[in-house]
Amino acid sequence: MGGTRARWHPERVTTSPVPPLRQAVQQIPAYVPGARPQGASAHKLSSNENPFPPLPSVRAAVERAAGDLNRYPDMFATELVGALARRHGVEPAQVVAGTGSVAVLGHVLQAVCDAGDEVVHAWRSFEAYPILVGLQGAVGVRVPLDAHGGHDLERMADAVTPRTRVLMLCTPNNPTGPALHHTEVLDLLTAVPQDVLVVLDEAYVEFVRQADPLDSRAVLASHPNVVVLRTFSKAYGLAGLRVGYALAHPEVARGIRTASTPFGVNHLAQVAALASLEAADELAQRVDAVVAERERLVTGLRAQGWTVPDAQGNFVWLATGARTADLAADAAAQGVLVRPFAGEGLRISVGEPAANDAVLHVTSAWPTT
Ligand SMILES: *Cc1c(COP(=O)(O)O)cnc(C)c1O
Repeated sequence: MGGTRARWHPERVTTSPVPPLRQAVQQIPAYVPGARPQGASAHKLSSNENPFPPLPSVRAAVERAAGDLNRYPDMFATELVGALARRHGVEPAQVVAGTGSVAVLGHVLQAVCDAGDEVVHAWRSFEAYPILVGLQGAVGVRVPLDAHGGHDLERMADAVTPRTRVLMLCTPNNPTGPALHHTEVLDLLTAVPQDVLVVLDEAYVEFVRQADPLDSRAVLASHPNVVVLRTFSKAYGLAGLRVGYALAHPEVARGIRTASTPFGVNHLAQVAALASLEAADELAQRVDAVVAERERLVTGLRAQGWTVPDAQGNFVWLATGARTADLAADAAAQGVLVRPFAGEGLRISVGEPAANDAVLHVTSAWPTT
């Protein structure tokens, strides 16, 4: 019986029937996805998806590409990366594609964070942040939002310590809605040491309509410690295909690429993203339609007496506090699926006009305080 026998390690006897998970993993809360409809009639406004079905041109490109599924995809998504570089006026070496910008963010953290390093981010913000930070064994430093649901940049700059490796900005902020202004981001960057990576998560940038909007490409051009995250999941309506990307200094981009899953972006996603870039004008019209509906929804809610933070994404926020779970259940009972954050508030995605009418109907029956 030539094999090596396991030695007896009495100090390693545990009561667990399986090898233990890392401490960091055990402590991480599970991601709570938006509710999924049980029947066909429900309005799914719980995941900030695009209410429009895929463009015919994008769908046709995906159907054609389905014939190549026995092949691995282009590992570096060369064509897509090239098209994104041209679109954003950067070098291809500055673009890294991944399976959604959430995955890209995970790779960013893997590339720069060791265990115990600090990541400063706003809170309440995107719930993937604590999960990704925790998985990395890093320490999340949460800076409370200001009274209007926006980032408190002064406090965020003050939260930077010698252990800080990353400062995350979510603009527009999911789930509350306000977006950062160009000038205030530049001010923050002068206050933050250059060896801190500042991540601009712009998942909803296409929906922003405000004065002094953040020009993240200009910021990146002048600040090598900036990473811009973009996604095809929201404005481009490709949430189901999982594709997003980072724009970064070539050295930072190299690190993100090194941490990325090989062949991560599948062939259909690459083809659909490319076809979507070619249909940018058509998609921009859809974004405009969502923005118009967002304004109608915000105006309607405010007319009902709700305090709605500035909504710059494709969603609105109601600070419903302790009533949140009950109100979400009431909405669901009426066929409107929203995203509750227990004890804090409801995030409601902007849907097609009938869905938004349904929201206003539901909220009109609720006391606004
Ligand atoms: C939806 C979203 C993303 C993008 O997610 P994907 O992985 O690209 O689908 C990133 N950041 C925020 C804040 C989001 O809300």
